[in-house]
Amino acid sequence: MPTASDTPLDEPYGLFIDGDERTASNDQTLEIIDPATEEPITSVPAATSDDVLTAVDTARRASDEWQQRPPKERSRLLCRLAEAIRDDEDRLARIETLENGKPLSAARTQVQRAARHFEYYGGLADKIQGESIPLDGDHVDYTIREPLGVSAHIVPWNVPIYLFARSVAPALASGNTAVVKPAEETPLGALEVARLADSVGLPEGVLNVVPGDGLEAGDTLVGSPDVDVVTFTGSEATGVEVAKRTVEHVADVHLELGGKSPNVVFPDADIDHAVDETITGIFSNAGQVCSAGSRLLVHEAIHDEFVDELARQTEALTVGPGIDDPDVGPLVSEHQLQTVTEYLEIGRAEVGEPVVGGEVFDGPGYFVEPTVFDGVENEMRIAREEIFGPVLTVIEFADEREAIELANESPYGLVAGVFTENVGRAHRFARDVDAGQIYVNEWFAGGNETPFGGFKRSGIGRENGVQAIDNYTQLKNVCLNIASRD
Ligand code: NAD
Repeated sequence: MPTASDTPLDEPYGLFIDGDERTASNDQTLEIIDPATEEPITSVPAATSDDVLTAVDTARRASDEWQQRPPKERSRLLCRLAEAIRDDEDRLARIETLENGKPLSAARTQVQRAARHFEYYGGLADKIQGESIPLDGDHVDYTIREPLGVSAHIVPWNVPIYLFARSVAPALASGNTAVVKPAEETPLGALEVARLADSVGLPEGVLNVVPGDGLEAGDTLVGSPDVDVVTFTGSEATGVEVAKRTVEHVADVHLELGGKSPNVVFPDADIDHAVDETITGIFSNAGQVCSAGSRLLVHEAIHDEFVDELARQTEALTVGPGIDDPDVGPLVSEHQLQTVTEYLEIGRAEVGEPVVGGEVFDGPGYFVEPTVFDGVENEMRIAREEIFGPVLTVIEFADEREAIELANESPYGLVAGVFTENVGRAHRFARDVDAGQIYVNEWFAGGNETPFGGFKRSGIGRENGVQAIDNYTQLKNVCLNIASRD
């Protein structure tokens, strides 16, 4: 069985600024903890405000040259980075498992998705086009899509390497430079990818990574007047603060926030398949997924049979250190363990004992049993609030109209899923449910190519797909009077 010590960390890590690695200006560091053992893995410098402003300044200075690079050259560099990530998949996956806790096979999938992201936007870099607009015979009018300049990226800890790539790849492809603040818990993946970017020839200063505290490094980054666009991925509360800071200096802001996504199962579904997908939807990454199917709505005709099978399979899930590739790894941190533990107590107070799970394992490690609460009402806290842990709430419904009402009765609108063999019902669900992405008969359907983002309090803007290019470009209109002056 592989162990954590099989993961070669290329220490020491530095703040990655201007193609170089350096200590923090006050020599402070962040200790990185293995969530499976609670042991320190390594430490990285914690950027001060001054360090972050240096990184922004560097990105600003690199901006003109990067914007003027022929798009086909930007394209080649990003595709080379994709290959470098693929070549290093094994090590990067171990690092993701080590700092985040997720099962090794899931970490591999995320590293592959990160590589694919750089490849996808590398492919788009030379296809960012304007339009010509017909006016009258004496005018020629066209639009140009121009990069915004310096992009800032605030990344959470739940899928560190992939979310880094998701945010940064379209920004670089469209000619922006980038400064990234990874989460305090999981900065290693971002620092590793920055090194790979350097190794494939990305010019100095184009990509900078400054791990640090959210309230200091993150706040300084999004508040810097030299930043032109901010992409924030994280919690709603922080996202609102980030948006306010960004608007103060009139920069663009995109928010990718949380969810409490409804997973709706009708009696005409393939039930065995729906159970499998329900388990994938809630217990992947120990439930720490923004698009987790955390609110299961089951038709009353199949409720008992469905919940029995769900409980049986949930009980059989293996829980353990991610490096051993179990079904479910630990939560990322002690803080997250406390949050989930509080929700287990709230759930017990609201509906009583869960049908399965509900316990926290004795340490070391931040392990929680995969848990299912049945008999939940949609207005309860465990049905409305994002728990971000391996906790599923089950709600019964009587008919399609009620299912759609319940699905929509949520402050969030990130994704929604339906399991049914009835094509008309699937389309009605897609039409009537307020969410940025609708899954039919598969949880986590779609990919790098498909736009992703939230309705309601789940966010502003879209990641992925060709649409993400719009986040990092601004439109210029050019109108010429070509009338003869003879
Ligand atoms: P968080 O908001 O606590 O932290 C996210 C990031 O913001 C971290 O890097 C943190 O250091 C930084 N930060 C904190 N305060 C800041 C400030 N004042 N200014 C600037 N940056 C600051 O969120 P989290 O707990 O790390 O992540 C979990 C949340 O992220 C969940 O709500 C989840 O749904 C959401 N999420 C959303 C998506 C999506 O695509 N919609 C993807 C992944 C996670």
